[in-house]
Parts: sequence; C-alpha cells; structure tokens
Amino acid sequence: MFEKKTLKDYDFSNKRVLVRVDFNVPLDAGRVGDDTRIRAALPTLEYLLAQGASLVLCSHLGRPKGVDVQFSLRPVAEYLDTLIDAPVSFAEDCIGPMAETAAAALQAGEILVLENTRFHAGEKKNDPEIARQFASLADVFVNDAFGTAHRAHASNVGVADYLPAIAGLLLEKEIQYLGQAIADPKRPFVAILGGAKVSDKIGVIRNLLTKADAILIGGGMANTFFRAEGYPMGDSLVEETALDVARELLDKAGDQLRLPIDVVIANAFDAEAESKTMGMDAIPDGWRILDVGPETIAGYGKVVASAGTVVWNGPMGVFEFPNFAKGTFALAQAVAKSSALTIIGGGDSVAAINQSGLADQVTHVSTGGGASLQMLEGDELPGLAALDDR
Ligand code: AMP
Repeated sequence: MFEKKTLKDYDFSNKRVLVRVDFNVPLDAGRVGDDTRIRAALPTLEYLLAQGASLVLCSHLGRPKGVDVQFSLRPVAEYLDTLIDAPVSFAEDCIGPMAETAAAALQAGEILVLENTRFHAGEKKNDPEIARQFASLADVFVNDAFGTAHRAHASNVGVADYLPAIAGLLLEKEIQYLGQAIADPKRPFVAILGGAKVSDKIGVIRNLLTKADAILIGGGMANTFFRAEGYPMGDSLVEETALDVARELLDKAGDQLRLPIDVVIANAFDAEAESKTMGMDAIPDGWRILDVGPETIAGYGKVVASAGTVVWNGPMGVFEFPNFAKGTFALAQAVAKSSALTIIGGGDSVAAINQSGLADQVTHVSTGGGASLQMLEGDELPGLAALDDR
C-alpha cells in the first residue's frame, strides 16, 4: 500500500502547483537528446491541467557549478511546449523576483518552467531559505521526480516543509513497482547486477541476499569477485579496495550469487581491440575482460526464463563498444522474452533495452538509476519520506 498522499487526495482546481519533475535529460549541442524523462512526467502534468491547475515546474539538469548556460533548462521548456497541449513559458531563475513575477502571472491551464535549481548552491545543501522561496511560488507541492528521490535537496525535500506535499503519478508508479518486487516478489526472484564497480552495489547485494533467490553478476564488477577467488586478472578492471568485502559476500552467498562461467577478453581497452572468448580462468597479462561469454548468457537466460520476478541494473560488459555489447543485448532479449514481472533500472541497462527496441516488452523501465538502487538497498528515499502521509 502506498502510504503517501497522491494526486487523488487533493483538489487542484484553481491552485498553483509547484511540480518537482526530473528533467535531468541529456542535451546534445543544446537540444534534448533522450526525452524519456520528459515524456514520463506528462501523465502528472496532464492530470493537474485537466483539474484546472496552473503549473510551476522545477528540476535540476546535470552538475553545474553555479550559473552555467550549458545546463539551462530553456531547451527542455521549448521541447515540452511541443509535447503538451498547454502554453509553456520559461523563467530565467528558479527563485527570486523573476520567478515570483512569472509564477504570479500564470493562469489556470498554463505552465511555467523554472531555470535549473542547481544554479543556486543552497539547492544541494537543502537550505531552508531557498526551500521557502520555492514554496512561495505555489499553493501546493507535487513531487514527481523519482530520479532525484534518493537526494535530500531543497527543491524535493526542503520545500515539503512549507506546503501540502503530494506524490505525483510517476513517483507513485515507480515506488509501487519496485517496492512490490522487493517486499513481496513472485518467486523465483532473480536480480541481475552489472556495471563497473562492486563498491557501488555492496549495499544492494547485502540486502538482496536476504530477499532474492538468485543474484546474477556481470560486467566489471564480476572481476573483483574473480580476483577475490584468486584468479589472475591480467589488465581487467579490479577494485583492490573491495576485495575483502567481495570475499565476505561470496562466503555468505554460496550458490545464491552467480558469476560468469565464460568471458570475452580483449588485448586493449578499445572498440577495435582483438578479442577472444574463454572459459573463466586466469586472464593472460595484457588482456582484460570486457564482456560475458555465450555460455554465461545461455545460463543466465535460463534462470531469467523461469523467474517470477526479475530486476536488472547495470550492463554485462563494455556495451559502448559494439564488439563487447553482445552480453548486455542478449540479456536484454532474455529479460524482454521472460513472462516474469520485469523491472529495469540504471542508465545503461535502460539504454540497452531502448536500443533493442524491446522496452515495451518489460513490465517497468525505471527513470531513476540511483533511486532504484537505493530502494534495492532497502533504504528510505528522502524525496518520498518528506511527503504528506495519507
Ligand atoms: P556503472 O556506472 O557502475 O553502472 O557501470 C557502467 C559502466 O561499466 C559502463 O560504462 C561499462 O562500459 C562499464 N563496464 C561494464 N563491464 C566492464 C568491464 N568488464 N570492464 C570495464 N568496464 C566495464
């Protein structure tokens, strides 16, 4: 059960609503690249407009150090204008007189997009003064930014101290899917974890060892486990500082944690490097693991095919290089084909499923990598905790 107030719990007619969206999208030469996150916000925006509200939207974009036009939300506001049937204007600051005047002039049915919240240092410090200034722009606050929910910043957490604070449809949906998968999964519950570093996912593995029936490991993070088992790893990416914890997790997990049985190695970290497939064994000097091999994919595919719930976060190899992307794309196929409840989170695994054209064959593609990892760790999301209880 979702314990926070949702859109249905509030009458938004003639209200000015501050909506924290996640418009942290990739910009390509000043134009919106992947628009997934903008489209994901539309149901909430359209619902609120249909209720007769006016909308003030705020978001961060990238990691600017102070005001930096490269990280302006103006292109995102212009892009939103092409997607939604409502007038969209833009304010060149997210607080202060410019934002206040523009917000005060809004009519029901209109949208104002504020400039990047991270242009002010107080945003990331969750400064109460900037939070109060955000709140002064509206009558009610809606948080729909799942992708930022693992951060306690002024525009998603601090602001909730000053206004009625309600969950948007995207936030609600994301939390329902992943929360349900973790708390009461249809079994077998299979987690697939990849990506570069094991150190980023230690908390996730610890928590999932108490919940999942199988954890399938791929990507660079498998290397650290192999090293902990004693294999010479050649020039593979290994986190020496995580070897003790890798050993501890291996001991604890037993058969629950599965590592690749074959790997694709390369003689350079390069898209055009010479490559070989080998059963997992000592990696020769001068070579490094860049992908999982076909037998691993077949084995992992079988586990996924018989699963009741699958959660996948992180690529199986250096999927940016087409020659070393086979493992990741084959796994994307296996997840898409599975009749399990399937949830994909994390930028790279989401990119892989999108590039495969299979996104509509998984149950849920998450818009938040960090936030979904934090849920998998079993930790509370500050962006959710700050909202009003039902
Ligand atoms: P993360 O940010 O931890 O999710 O890791 C994603 C990155 O891990 C991607 O950029 C991949 O290229 C990288 N990666 C995956 N497998 C390997 C590997 N075997 N060696 C080095 N990097 C890898």
